Amino acid sequence: TVEPRPSSGAASPPRLPRPKRTVVILSRKRSLYSTRRLVEAIRQRGHRPLVLDTLRCTMVLAPGQPRMLYRGVDIKGVDVVIPRIGASITGYGLAVVAHFEMMGVPVLNSALAISQSRDKLRALQLLCRAGLDAPRTVMAHDRSNMRKLVEEVGGLPVIIKLLRGTQGVGVMIAHTLQEVQTIGNTFWDLGQEVVLQEFVAESKGRDVRALVVGDKVVGAMRRRAKKGEFRSNIHRGGEGSPVELSATYVEVAVRAARLLGLAIAGVDMLEGHNGPRLMELNSSPGFEGLERATGQDIAGEMIDHALAVIEARAAATRPT
Ligand code: ADP
Ligand code: GLU
Repeated sequence: TVEPRPSSGAASPPRLPRPKRTVVILSRKRSLYSTRRLVEAIRQRGHRPLVLDTLRCTMVLAPGQPRMLYRGVDIKGVDVVIPRIGASITGYGLAVVAHFEMMGVPVLNSALAISQSRDKLRALQLLCRAGLDAPRTVMAHDRSNMRKLVEEVGGLPVIIKLLRGTQGVGVMIAHTLQEVQTIGNTFWDLGQEVVLQEFVAESKGRDVRALVVGDKVVGAMRRRAKKGEFRSNIHRGGEGSPVELSATYVEVAVRAARLLGLAIAGVDMLEGHNGPRLMELNSSPGFEGLERATGQDIAGEMIDHALAVIEARAAATRPT
């Protein structure tokens, strides 16, 4: 399937016009910063953006012919889908993403990758199995032996996390066994699963967010928690500043994204004494903070990658 290349000096063959591609952004709102920036990047490159509200996508299941309706009309001719699925619609969103996959449309990220990164425990299982370093973490359903669980993660204080929390909501610190019990019981009584995690104190309320696209880091920042807060999320008042990542941090971020199957990932790492300690991977990373902190064109990087995926697929299926 290797195409004959014109030998140097020969007149190159007439260039075919590049086909206009349709890039779907699944997003609840077109006014969101990241959605707007992606639309802009698609237009700048001469392609067609199509923003679809995930909750208005209707899946039609018929033997051999999965279809998608949007406000009652068949969606056709989609070349690639970039899902921006918020935590609150994970269930339906994953079904929509999987449906596009079944229609044969490339999707960045896949339903599997989104679901296993969104479940913090599942993500850590996969990362730790591969030998990557994360804060020591335990999960139990049985409330009896809290003291032992706390010991397992290195003693007090400990971090308690909701399995499906986001933007720092549901991440707490407990300084006494009593606090661990009270917080744990509250969540369990609410039917929520939690994990206990080693508090990485040396990170001092800072962490690193690396944005991975394909197999490279296209931008990174250090986030610093506001005073009196250990969580460095921008949504919790944290501040981002650009950071030049060492090769180790880059390598860990890229490996982690690949392990979870994420083509696009916000990789959050704490800065441990011995290097990066993975916290979580975000499958629909917002990049307003990152673009503002670094001045880089993150949206453009994402779209270039999506277009490259389309071309690679077209090349693989093109008759020779
Ligand atoms: P979310 O998905 O809600 O952002 P994270 O697990 O990323 O949850 O935690 C939010 C913030 O809390 C992190 O950005 C970090 O600043 C802080 N944090 C989380 N886990 C730890 C930990 N084990 N040790 C120290 N700080 C932590
Ligand atoms: N919305 C962005 C994200 O979660 C910003 C991260 C933050 O809150 O620090 O990917």
